[in-house]
Amino acid sequence: MIPLVIKQIATIVNGTSYHLPDEELAINEICTDSRKITDQSLFIALVGEKFDGHLFAKQAIDDGAIAVIVNRKIDDDIPQIVVNDTYIALGQLAEFVRDQSSAKFVALTGSSGKTSVKEMTANILQQCGETLYTQGNFNNDIGVPLTLLRLKKQDQFAVVELGANHIGEIAYTTRLVKPNSALINNIALAHIEGFGSLDGVATAKGEIFEGLADNGIAIINLESCSDNWLAMLKNKTVWTFSIHNFSADFYASNIEIMDQTTFTLHTPIGDSEITLPLVGEHNISNAIASSALAISVGATLTQVKKGLAESKSVKGRLYPVRLNQTQLIWDDSYNANVGSMSAAIHVLATQPGYKVLVVGDMAELGNDANIYHQQIGELAKQQNIDCVVSVGQLSELISQFSGVGHHFIDKQSAVDYLLNLLRLHPTLTMLVKGSRSAKMEDLIVEIQTKI
Ligand code: ATP
Ligand code: MG
Repeated sequence: MIPLVIKQIATIVNGTSYHLPDEELAINEICTDSRKITDQSLFIALVGEKFDGHLFAKQAIDDGAIAVIVNRKIDDDIPQIVVNDTYIALGQLAEFVRDQSSAKFVALTGSSGKTSVKEMTANILQQCGETLYTQGNFNNDIGVPLTLLRLKKQDQFAVVELGANHIGEIAYTTRLVKPNSALINNIALAHIEGFGSLDGVATAKGEIFEGLADNGIAIINLESCSDNWLAMLKNKTVWTFSIHNFSADFYASNIEIMDQTTFTLHTPIGDSEITLPLVGEHNISNAIASSALAISVGATLTQVKKGLAESKSVKGRLYPVRLNQTQLIWDDSYNANVGSMSAAIHVLATQPGYKVLVVGDMAELGNDANIYHQQIGELAKQQNIDCVVSVGQLSELISQFSGVGHHFIDKQSAVDYLLNLLRLHPTLTMLVKGSRSAKMEDLIVEIQTKI
């Protein structure tokens, strides 16, 4: 991280210090997880619904932390800085570190594909210089400051994923990041219970532009955008992308999808023949979005081409699990909403052999959850999926409306059924997907051990 001296920290967070060491000690890391304290770190005691970091403050010092930041004075002589709100202190430190950095920052949000776009953009920008990027899915109001706190002096680029499950969350994180460019990948029916409607989703995602630098570039998807954003962006440069719409600034043509994807990428700085080692039309859209984001901070077409060619699928997100030469499972079990479930069905429809969709429930869809599950069943039917296997409650509707469904109340029975299908169909492609709570990856593990 960019070095911070312990006394300087007390000033940044406007806290009252007790028992701090006299020396000008620099801290190596900022930790909020008491199980992951490192030597010479600073521990920030956050308070969550289920935990209170203050209970671990003393332990953190015993484990090697130089000092702790707390909301209330700990009755002990441990080095501590007392503030009003440790959550705000975390943000203040992140903002301070961000302001020390001379890197170019890009931020991105959207309903689906954020992590995919983040990884692809990071792949491209790593061709240009040292790049910090969000680890895993650290995209919320705690994860984003922790990401910024990992910045190093030599970083030339930073790619930051912003997620939200409540209004105001992205407004907060984007103000910390102050991106030079900001992108909304798409809006879809995800986390509906939190936002109320698609307009609510658009408003929540649109907050990303509130942090955009004055001369910053906003990037939006022509196929999935909101008029309100354009009003917000009246005085900003706006770039558009789209898979098929040739009036966008960034788009694709000559698309060919086999077990990898090739297409011509069109951009304002020229065209390039792209090979993407991923499948799915949605990943082409993600690749175009990543190109726009990377080019907005100076990447060349050669760097875009090289970075995209090195993209790898992320576990749980259309990740290929090959059982043998002719039988393949696409592990898309990381999460699901209506948009990503539809994208997955379109991928499965292009695959060889007997096509099996294995689905769990899509969570957090609010009052109309039944209708959305029915619609997914109808889409599976329309796309000629050969067999739907569902596990869960709402997903029974997917089976029912697909016309080719088999519903199971437990995963074990579903696995037995799937093993039988694998015996019956020598050429078979299976796609496994559901919301995080459905843990559909369990079925893949079982199939692999039992086959
Ligand atoms: P989270 O909200 O959990 O952080 P995310 O937005 O980061 O998710 P990814 O992890 O990249 O999204 O992808 C999750 C799933 O969304 C993928 O498995 C894929 O099925 C689907 N997906 C990815 N990109 C798109 C896209 N552009 N449009 C629709 N669905 C997509
Ligand atoms: Mg993500």
